[in-house]
Amino acid sequence: MTVSVTGATGFIGKRLVQRLHADNHNVRVLTRSRSKAESIFSVKDFPGIIIAEEAGWKDCIEGSNAVVNLAGMPISTRWSPEIKKEIKQSRVRVTTKVVDLINNSPQGVRPTVLVNATAVGYYGTSETQVFDESSPSGNDYLAQVCREWEGTALKVSKDVRLTLIRIGVVLGKDGGALAKMIPLFMMFAGGPLGSGQQWFSWIHLDDIVNLICEVLSNPSYEGVINGTAPNPVRLSEMCEHLGNVMGRPSWLPVPDFALKAVLGEGASVVLEGQRVLPAKAKELGFLFKYPYVKDALKSILSQD
Ligand code: NDP
Repeated sequence: MTVSVTGATGFIGKRLVQRLHADNHNVRVLTRSRSKAESIFSVKDFPGIIIAEEAGWKDCIEGSNAVVNLAGMPISTRWSPEIKKEIKQSRVRVTTKVVDLINNSPQGVRPTVLVNATAVGYYGTSETQVFDESSPSGNDYLAQVCREWEGTALKVSKDVRLTLIRIGVVLGKDGGALAKMIPLFMMFAGGPLGSGQQWFSWIHLDDIVNLICEVLSNPSYEGVINGTAPNPVRLSEMCEHLGNVMGRPSWLPVPDFALKAVLGEGASVVLEGQRVLPAKAKELGFLFKYPYVKDALKSILSQD
């Protein structure tokens, strides 16, 4: 299969491209910066890979079987009004472009699958509610971003199989929230964050990549799918496991200000969570390699 990927140079995208390449798919990297993409995907390690800046996206999308759209400005920053605008606009802009290019591709070379990232922030935050794919959207800023992002993807032609993956906090060693949290846990004793009662809906990097690959190849995966592990935890439990796995006693709380210093207002994703269940993935029989956070953290922290 030939797959075009936006956001391929990011935390999830890099691992996805490695996996698609290892599985003998043809990968087209749609990026804003050829030099950045070339420094990540060398011709030696990824023979045959095509890298294109925006002017070349049309040629890449035409003739691809599928498009995976992961691009967007990182949310782990300080949220000035301009940055908040760009967090939303970057996602809407790239998704609009991808959808237009797919819709305008001539029949015969039009991709038949669009896998579009979105986030569990769609549901808003709550310490008591349980959310699955049928739950309504929340009212806060991130929920608005997700609604607009998803609404843009929904404009793709009806003959294209669209999957919107509402992704939870992705756990991996070399990126995402965890990579920023680990040094804090080293600095402080690794105790709870905030009240600790907030829900933390997480997924291991390997599982989100496996889920995207399953969506690409299995026509039963369509519509909204939560990309979260089946056992979300309260933040206090997550921190206890992280402390244990790192060999840090978990009694001294990590102050909110320290987390905000490294994650910016994007820390709200960790400090004000939601309990999201992957009802659809379970119904479809998707097998999570890491259903429990303790095992996920052990596997990640034992990597070199
Ligand atoms: P990253 O932040 O690591 O990478 C996203 C990619 O998007 C970048 O590599 C870049 O690609 C592109 N990008 C960055 N800024 C902009 C911009 N201003 N305009 C257009 N494109 C931009 O993201 P992740 O891999 O962590 O996540 C992928 C997607 O999944 C994101 O949209 C994210 O919101 C979503 N998600 C991720 C979660 C997580 O925990 N990681 C949780 C929930 C959702 P290039 O420079 O090559 O163009």
